Amino acid sequence: MTIVDLSVPITTGMPVYPGDPEVAVGPALTVERDGVNVLALHLGSHSGTHVDAPKHIDDALPALDEVPLERFCGPAAVVDVRSVGANAARQSTSPPEAKPSNTRWCSEPKTDVCRLTRAAW
Ligand SMILES: [Zn+2]
Repeated sequence: MTIVDLSVPITTGMPVYPGDPEVAVGPALTVERDGVNVLALHLGSHSGTHVDAPKHIDDALPALDEVPLERFCGPAAVVDVRSVGANAARQSTSPPEAKPSNTRWCSEPKTDVCRLTRAAW
């Protein structure tokens, strides 16, 4: 099995979804002053590479810790919405509406395929 690391670095000032908290990363403790290096992080839960829990859109749906890890392993389709505005991307539930020319798709969307959204925020 090939494992692909999709993580993007978390950095101060990185793009965030419009209205989300800005990202700030800085030293909280240092080896020189405190004997250990510890970073302080300020960010929203949708910063950088992340998973949107079902509860993100409905309080009655499962939180992320209630979703089995197996759900995050397997085939995936990448939806590239970098050329689509944030509001249009949020409202799009149909993959072809957000499908620019460089999007890789399965032949047809399947419920057992993870949807990976590539955004500019
Ligand atoms: Zn999100």
